[in-house]
Amino acid sequence: MIYDFSRVLAIVVLSVSFASSVRAQNKLNVVTTLPDLESIVYSVGGDLVEVTSIATGYQNPHFVDPKPSFIMRLTRADMFVTVGLDLETGWVPSLLNSARNPDITPGSEGYVDTSINIPLLDVPSSVSREQGDIHVFGNPHYWLDPENGKIMAETIRDALVRLQPESATLFDSNLESFLTQIDIKIEEWNAEMKPYKGQRLIAYHNQWPYLEAAFGVIAIDFLEPKPGIPPTPSQLAKIISLMKQESLSTIIIAPYFRTDSADLVARNVSGNVVILAASVGAFSEIKTYFDLFDYNIARLKEAFDSPGS
Ligand SMILES: [Zn+2]
Repeated sequence: MIYDFSRVLAIVVLSVSFASSVRAQNKLNVVTTLPDLESIVYSVGGDLVEVTSIATGYQNPHFVDPKPSFIMRLTRADMFVTVGLDLETGWVPSLLNSARNPDITPGSEGYVDTSINIPLLDVPSSVSREQGDIHVFGNPHYWLDPENGKIMAETIRDALVRLQPESATLFDSNLESFLTQIDIKIEEWNAEMKPYKGQRLIAYHNQWPYLEAAFGVIAIDFLEPKPGIPPTPSQLAKIISLMKQESLSTIIIAPYFRTDSADLVARNVSGNVVILAASVGAFSEIKTYFDLFDYNIARLKEAFDSPGS
């Protein structure tokens, strides 16, 4: 959707004066692209941050319609947190350009790309957007491995300390609690997934490699012929024959994709379509980064325990 941004200028100007009042309370105003980042920022920043996410957990993070309200939020932000790589490449640059906030432009102290220090998967040998590929710098869905959540939390701590050094002790201690808590959960999750190690499945979009690596399941092919390209009849035929040949019964898909092609394949192979949460907020019970893994592990276990039901 195209907006005439000049028409919202007056409201943006008003929001700048609101920004000063937020800063006066000494809370850092943080805007994130995804709710997963929002959850981690809140864990590390605690009461010292005001944090909101632009995208919701049931939206495809590759494709978010820019809205004037997003620009207003960015105009008054002290810090902007992005997944980076090319996940949000279709919508973040234009929002940042329109917001014209020097505190959060790329390279500034308030611009935080959490992909830094993440060991990336699926990094191609050359960057090409041939056939609309939207994973050209490596797979950008890295928050789906809780070990990466720890790295993201550290990057966020560093950024918060940079912007508000006087609160470093508190950010450090919040980070420590987050890391301790997630390590306990990772042990639980690993124990729950242990019996299913090596289970193979099909995914709609290639967005789960980090979840797969974390918990030992393997997506051997995808309904999308290329990331971002909707399933074609020939791809679906190929997947049906592959699933029959390999006796696979599970197709995983994020809630923001249409399920008709996955349903069609599942009918042909007497399989299951399993809707996994790709982000915090995908379903109402997923309120935190921890809930995201609780939810997905429960769904995977159900699917593997009753294949083809
Ligand atoms: Zn993707």
